Amino acid sequence: SKSAGRNCFTVYDEAMSAELEARNTLEGDLRDAIARCLFEVHYQPYFDVETGRRRGAEALVRWRHPVRGLIPPDQFIPLAEETGLIVPLGEWIIRQACDDATLWPADTMVSINLSPVQFKQAELFDVIETTLRNSGLSAERLEIEITESVLLERACENLVFMERLSDLGVSLALDDFGTGYSSLSCLTTFPFDKIKIDKSFMGNLSAQYKSAAIISSIVTLARGLGMSVTAEGVETIEQLDGLKQLGVNFAQGYLLGRPVPTAELEKQPVIFRPR
Ligand code: C2E
Ligand code: CA
Ligand code: CA
Ligand code: CA
Repeated sequence: SKSAGRNCFTVYDEAMSAELEARNTLEGDLRDAIARCLFEVHYQPYFDVETGRRRGAEALVRWRHPVRGLIPPDQFIPLAEETGLIVPLGEWIIRQACDDATLWPADTMVSINLSPVQFKQAELFDVIETTLRNSGLSAERLEIEITESVLLERACENLVFMERLSDLGVSLALDDFGTGYSSLSCLTTFPFDKIKIDKSFMGNLSAQYKSAAIISSIVTLARGLGMSVTAEGVETIEQLDGLKQLGVNFAQGYLLGRPVPTAELEKQPVIFRPR
């Protein structure tokens, strides 16, 4: 009947507005959290597979929410990107990570994830250059991680930006490699120093011949292009052994170390010794 239809519409409408309200609350909370710096940067180390030496650590942001506790990035980065709040938040992360890294041993690099939205900011290069100068961190100790999506959109502008970073001495890593759609030609066009193999390829590495074949071909490709390879999501000693045999340069994952605050990272041994 007509009235039932109207009811249906009302319920639907209410569900929609509840969702919208939750989103608005989260957006308001996020705005407030940025103004009050209620975020923490944690660092996950990565190690040279051959020597076991720590080579760097990746900055991973968390939101310290007064009610909901520590919120992982997957739950607020997308909203921060949609609303543009990733720009001030991202600048804060860059400053925080560079400041923290100055207290680490000089051979430990810091890797920072940049969102495609941040790439649209004309000032991003100046932000990075100024932050390096103010913190005193040498550009050689900074690595920027970007995903393939940055290569598909605004490729020309992004190429210029990446070349400027490269000229400054900053390293560039292609994150989540193997999950997207970019063509291999991107690897020769853009000045990458490193490929990070996505954790979905780890699986049961010793038994999965197909993953091993893919990793092996990525290693060959990277070598030919003068790039290094990091495997992420390494959780078992078997995976680490497999990666060593396949010639992967660096390993990162729960087996080697979880993301931790800088104070904790500073206390950790710089050599990984599996027990
Ligand atoms: P990502 O850059 O691919 O980071 C790796 C994610 O895998 C991290 O999740 C890390 O904690 C998790 N991880 C590390 N080792 C293992 C492992 O052995 N097993 C498994 N299953 N997972 C592992 P996290 O910290 O929740 O970050 C998720 C994503 O959020 C990141 O993926 C990145 O895309 C984004 N993100 C984090 N921090 C930032 C940031 O500062 N800026 C931007 N733009 N994005 C960030
Ligand atoms: Ca990353
Ligand atoms: Ca990744
Ligand atoms: Ca990711």
